Amino acid sequence: MTFADLGLSDELMRAVDEVGYSEPTPIQKQAIPSVLMGRDLIGIAQTGTGKTAAFVLPMIDILGSGRSRARMPRSLILEPTRELAAQVAENFEQYGKYHKLSMALLIGGVSMGDQVKALEKGVDVLIATPGRLMDLFQRGNILLTGCALLVIDEADRMLDMGFIPDIEDICAKLPKTRQTLLFSATMPAPIKKLADKFLTDPKSIEVARPASSNRLIEQALVPVTSRTKKATLIDMLGAPDVKTAIVFSNRKSTVRDLTTSLKRARFAAGQIQGDMEQAERIRELDRFKSGEVTVLVASDVAARGLDVKAVSHVFNYDVPWHPDDYIHRIGRTGRAGATGKAFTLATPDDDEAVANIEKLTGQKIPRIGKAAPAAPAAAEDKPAPASCAGQPKAAAKPAPEKSKADARPKAERAPPPAPRPHKPEPRRDDRNDGPDEGWNGPVPDFLGISLGG
Ligand code: AMP
Repeated sequence: MTFADLGLSDELMRAVDEVGYSEPTPIQKQAIPSVLMGRDLIGIAQTGTGKTAAFVLPMIDILGSGRSRARMPRSLILEPTRELAAQVAENFEQYGKYHKLSMALLIGGVSMGDQVKALEKGVDVLIATPGRLMDLFQRGNILLTGCALLVIDEADRMLDMGFIPDIEDICAKLPKTRQTLLFSATMPAPIKKLADKFLTDPKSIEVARPASSNRLIEQALVPVTSRTKKATLIDMLGAPDVKTAIVFSNRKSTVRDLTTSLKRARFAAGQIQGDMEQAERIRELDRFKSGEVTVLVASDVAARGLDVKAVSHVFNYDVPWHPDDYIHRIGRTGRAGATGKAFTLATPDDDEAVANIEKLTGQKIPRIGKAAPAAPAAAEDKPAPASCAGQPKAAAKPAPEKSKADARPKAERAPPPAPRPHKPEPRRDDRNDGPDEGWNGPVPDFLGISLGG
């Protein structure tokens, strides 16, 4: 099946062709014709499967007929994080370049004034995080009664972040006769309930079992101790096949510390974590995309929205507390047909978390190497001798600039994680939608722009 068989318009086919997609992915093959027919849809798919285009492409053609009215968006895409929302907006811009559709992005960290201005003009597509959308709704800046097409993306992530009550509120404000598309990597009971309540006779599509991780990703578990962990990572990052890497950590303070250590070890390291201003995060991502930064240290806030092609390696510096996060993290490599490697550094304390991941994926992660010998505390930042991964240490990549020592007191570090609560709490550090923090950088191009001519 080709894109031509899916019933998309010529303008859209032209844009898709220019992006360089030759064949639709399985989720696109199954979803696009149904969405074009106006059906509700449940898509169980991970990021990396092409699911964004599976809803954005048909939406563009559906919205192609009809006109927007002031303050009444015609369609709404809900995303859990700013990064993901911005990513979807970028895709809309790419695929919709030959359509005259307008779009607004409503995310925390961007000045409300610009967002309100875009809405006043009338938008065809509103891409929003739930908290910011509710804020603007309560201020009377948006009417959702004209919104006949709703996409709830990454629903399981929304659940983890405590957004489900907001989503229920939003759904109740939309017209009853509308088309609703829901995407989620997994289908826990509260999401199933949400779907039962707000979707009508949906078509269900599952492209990869929620727990099955991508076959193109070679995975391994590297036994370490808390003292040898950093040296092991530094050693592994130096392997010649590590071209670009994302290193995940569970804590923002570790992301900061590790970035400093990697810079000291002369890696071109950068960071992205929840404490950074949005403008700063975008700048750092751009530096990673351009190759100026080759090792990006990230907290989970970055895991879902990141779409960087050719990430050769993912390292889990910490075993994620939530097994779902493991799948999302390693999904940053092995994207769109490329192969990738994902290494997880695990201490004996992580046994339970590892067992939970293996239970979810149904696969045992192969163990490699032995725990690295304990490094002396003072030499913490120096690479350890020969790798526990059996990979020779390559010449370290030069850092673009000398880093300043992190003066942050140790006391600031987060306490050890609590076990996953039975009833998920909002993860405040990941929520995007606090009070308007103001935007310190330029307003992104895609904010309130008109697409096409
Ligand atoms: P997603 O699952 O939406 O995060 O998409 C993952 C990646 O696949 C993105 O980099 C897309 O640009 C890419 N992609 C989407 N559709 C296709 C396609 N039909 N062929 C090749 N790459 C695609």
